[in-house]
Amino acid sequence: MLILFISKWLLCLKPKGTKFCNECHGCKLMSSNNHPDWHNCINQKNTICNIDTIRLINKKIFECSQQGGRKIIFLSDIEKLTESAVNAFLKTLEEPPKNTWFFLIDYSNLNYFYTLNSRCLIYKLFVPSEKHSLNWLKQEHIKKNRSCLTALRIHQGSPLSAKKFINSSIWIERTFFFKLLDSAFKDYNLLKILPILKEKNTIMKIDWLCLLLFDAIKFNIDQKKYLINFDQIKFIQFLSYRYTHMILDFSIRTWMRCKNRLLKIPGINHELLLLEQLLQWEIILK
Ligand SMILES: [Zn+2]
Repeated sequence: MLILFISKWLLCLKPKGTKFCNECHGCKLMSSNNHPDWHNCINQKNTICNIDTIRLINKKIFECSQQGGRKIIFLSDIEKLTESAVNAFLKTLEEPPKNTWFFLIDYSNLNYFYTLNSRCLIYKLFVPSEKHSLNWLKQEHIKKNRSCLTALRIHQGSPLSAKKFINSSIWIERTFFFKLLDSAFKDYNLLKILPILKEKNTIMKIDWLCLLLFDAIKFNIDQKKYLINFDQIKFIQFLSYRYTHMILDFSIRTWMRCKNRLLKIPGINHELLLLEQLLQWEIILK
């Protein structure tokens, strides 16, 4: 959102101080998400951004700007860049064409791409306090306090992402997934979750599962105030009473390995891999 506002200001034809006018042709094009010099290179559907995307970016920016002014390149999550994409992009950053602005977001803060970071000006943005965010969510008419806190913690404290999450179909999907998982545990039949796990958003569901298992560990060692899934307290309690934190920890590790294989091995059979993981998990839990 911040980058969008800055971009709109940069592309505004009649900016007033640090504000865009919202009336000129540039602003109108930005508002309708149609500005030919604003290039959002990673949309939500992209799981990775490879060298072809970078080549396309280069092609776009070395052409003259469509509206005769500035050009903006936006990479919304640099973690999605493959190594070859980073290398190709470095060359562009070293000798950029005139009047071109690059905005890159790094959510991980892990400094994966040192060479990339060394060519950028870095601004660290901090999230608002949890109390402020919860109040804001309340003002936005999101009533259930537990859901708000859960969504906020899943999104590392970002109130906007939390609001979007709660109001989306993914939230309903998560509720349904945990309900099914709960019944799979009680029936001693973990394979029950396979159809819904493989159907869609598999990686996200594995993340939810791991966060839930982490919560059970926190419950075990009496660190309840750090829980994430506040709307699943009963389930967390059940898991923490039934399993030691050694078993929970080992379970998380196997799920992380499974996630890694799903992401990194091209062409792997997802259903078979998930089936293997679930069978292995049943053994671990016994
Ligand atoms: Zn304007």
